[in-house]
Amino acid sequence: MSGNPAVVMRLVASAYTVAEKAGAIVRNVLHSGELGIVEKTRANDLQTLADRLAQQSICASLSRCFPKITIIGEEELPEEEIREDLIENGHSEEILQKTCPAEYSGLKEEELVVWVDPLDGTKEYTEGLLDNVTVLIGIAYGGKAIAGVINQPFYNYQLGAGADLGRTMWGMLGLGAFGFQLQEVPGDKRIVTTTRSHSNKLVTDCVDAMEPHEVVRVGGAGNKIIQLVEGKASAYVFASPGCKKWDTCAPEAILQAVGGKLTDMHGNAYCYNANVKHMNSAGILATLRNHEYYISRVPQSVLQALKSE
Ligand code: AMP
Ligand code: MG
Ligand code: MG
Repeated sequence: MSGNPAVVMRLVASAYTVAEKAGAIVRNVLHSGELGIVEKTRANDLQTLADRLAQQSICASLSRCFPKITIIGEEELPEEEIREDLIENGHSEEILQKTCPAEYSGLKEEELVVWVDPLDGTKEYTEGLLDNVTVLIGIAYGGKAIAGVINQPFYNYQLGAGADLGRTMWGMLGLGAFGFQLQEVPGDKRIVTTTRSHSNKLVTDCVDAMEPHEVVRVGGAGNKIIQLVEGKASAYVFASPGCKKWDTCAPEAILQAVGGKLTDMHGNAYCYNANVKHMNSAGILATLRNHEYYISRVPQSVLQALKSE
């Protein structure tokens, strides 16, 4: 690589290290034993101290380096001075060495939108289902998710002391995805992954309509996309509002970077401009392959209940 790295490559390189720092915060809060749980809209919509600190860390760190970028975080937090120990100034040298795809090399800070889910899978975090938890930093340009970073703070935690805890995956359209081994579900098996804590009749009817060989119910939007790219599931099906833009931006970019697709239940793409509404009202259908099959199976009742944006 020669000359100054492209702004978007510097952003992804910083987001990588910032996500690692947020992952460490998420682990530290758990080990402190004081989760500071608050109910947001209701009992299965929670916020913990880890959500709050991780968001402060991510948003403050990125906005210091990239003051003109629009950064949208999940948590509504009071405006306050951010503790200096929460700031991360580092970046991934390896990412900076990559050549930026030509179409993104001239992007300016003002044109980029960053969607932050500081802790995806909060409910599972509070219940000790730790591998469901991810930190999500998605980068959008022109309404499209173009790059994303996913940190999984408790990856390998079942292996116990001595194991390397946590990992970071990232991807960018036109460049590919890194930090994991891409795998597909063997054969033509339909393994559907869906929510474990936000289900309803529409969600289960839609899963059934896919005629799955197997259904896996796990927490987290980030976690479910990891299942798709690591060959544990063939489709992520969630026929309900509930997921927001910060849940899907980073995962969508990584999935797309390896040839997958994320749409609403009608097959329409979501838009990630700064002014869009946050809720993904028409549900989530994500696949690595065979998106059309799953779209073709969506029941009329779902299509009628969930309108595209
Ligand atoms: P889940 O698959 O249930 O773990 O949800 C994936 C993401 O969407 C998580 O960030 C959830 O908090 C969010 N989500 C999904 N459904 C709802 C809901 N009904 N209320 C609040 N958040 C939701
Ligand atoms: Mg989330
Ligand atoms: Mg969250």
